Amino acid sequence: MLTLCINKFKNVLMILLIGMLLMGNGNTMIDNIREANNHLSDSIRNTVVQSVLNEEDIQTFAARKAQVVIRCGEYQNKPGKRVYLNDIGLNFKDIPTDIKIHYDNEGAYIQEYDLNKKISMRIYEEMQERGIKVVYQDTKDRTQDLNRAGRIANEQNANIYLSVHTNYYNASSKGFFIMTNEGNQTARNIADRLSISMENNGMIPKRNALLNSGRIGEMNVINDSTIALLLEAGFYSNPNELKHLMSDEYVNYIAEHMANEMVEVLNDYWK
Ligand SMILES: [Zn+2]
Repeated sequence: MLTLCINKFKNVLMILLIGMLLMGNGNTMIDNIREANNHLSDSIRNTVVQSVLNEEDIQTFAARKAQVVIRCGEYQNKPGKRVYLNDIGLNFKDIPTDIKIHYDNEGAYIQEYDLNKKISMRIYEEMQERGIKVVYQDTKDRTQDLNRAGRIANEQNANIYLSVHTNYYNASSKGFFIMTNEGNQTARNIADRLSISMENNGMIPKRNALLNSGRIGEMNVINDSTIALLLEAGFYSNPNELKHLMSDEYVNYIAEHMANEMVEVLNDYWK
């Protein structure tokens, strides 16, 4: 395995050197770097979740492939990323048929990933219907490394990255909000606009936007040329909000309103 890795590093270095000799043609060099990087990360994806070259350096030169990346948050069924129906006083009949029910020794439970999937898919579909060039990203089977998930999103170099999550604290926690990175006023303005568009849903209240101060890996690695947003659509630790988060009524409302506002935002900032 070690020899294999060394050989692959050699290949990357060779391509880099050849690329530098061909500096006259910038695209060729970048394509070569990208190819080498992809090849390497593909071949060792299951053992090492890291690229040899800094993805951001490559992306500085990359064209936009999408306007929006929607990421389905979470990737595995961790304790703490789930609620047991017994703990929250939910009956099977309260669970819509499109939400998966899982089982373990402690009983039946719902996991965050499945909620995020329903919500992120609906947002994706609504944006696609409005002609937005949107890419759906679910890294569940590709990586369990949040930084890597962010770097996969960077391949699109989109105007906006929107990672979709649902929140867990306690049974009385309330509200949705959108998080942005510190020191990015444009991101903050866009987050406020999208939040306001969802505000009158009548089910889950709006909270003030929060700032990522370096704690959220997937947001830390997003390209400087991409606005990073993280939606917490509500608290699934709150039985009342969980019902809404699972429901077509809430999910359709926020997906439609966010998609409408996203069309306006893209027009205002990038046309
Ligand atoms: Zn989450």
